[in-house]
Amino acid sequence: MGKQKSSAQSDPAGGESKVVPIPSAARELSMQQLVHRMLEFLGEDPEREGLVRTPARVESSLRWLTRGYGESVDELVRGAVFEEEHESMVLVRDIEIYSMCEHHMLPFFGKAHVAYLPHGKIIGLSKIPRIVDVYARRLQVQERLTDQVADALMRVLRPHGVGVVIEAYHLCMMMRGVEKQNSKTVTSALRGNFLDGTTRDEFLRLAHGGNWLE
Ligand SMILES: [Zn+2]
Repeated sequence: MGKQKSSAQSDPAGGESKVVPIPSAARELSMQQLVHRMLEFLGEDPEREGLVRTPARVESSLRWLTRGYGESVDELVRGAVFEEEHESMVLVRDIEIYSMCEHHMLPFFGKAHVAYLPHGKIIGLSKIPRIVDVYARRLQVQERLTDQVADALMRVLRPHGVGVVIEAYHLCMMMRGVEKQNSKTVTSALRGNFLDGTTRDEFLRLAHGGNWLE
């Protein structure tokens, strides 16, 4: 079982640095100019060959990695929710996730398992990974990402219940601070019927049926 993460963790690198207000002149800078400045602050020469196009690359990469801000679940599911009498659990397992922690702007990545118990409506299966992405492609904490996926499905499908488990590796833990290379963080969000024993047990058994969660 992976490590359960508390939301009130201290910065393992130590040292609470003061929050420095940004001078108004800096607010006028474009993202690329800010990256250029950041390279200078890091002691680099932003004009050397390998770095000349880095500010442009960083900007387009960051915009891609946070594209979820411009997406909405309601738009995504339009036309993909169908009336259906099926009332057994639907589970999409091993959905790859790539997100970025909002504390360090470093990636966290892993897998999500998403299940629901339909109540007259089902959703196109390919939409479930895309709903996960709407929220993953933002600055996140894993706990909130898990809740948001569960709440979105509850809202658009009004099912009997929803279960979401996410297991992820956080580069901010692996590359810096505590340098715990193998510590996975597992979070879950259960709604409706998934809170009671039988459904919850079935979900967790199916979700953990793969060998990714020891
Ligand atoms: Zn972090």
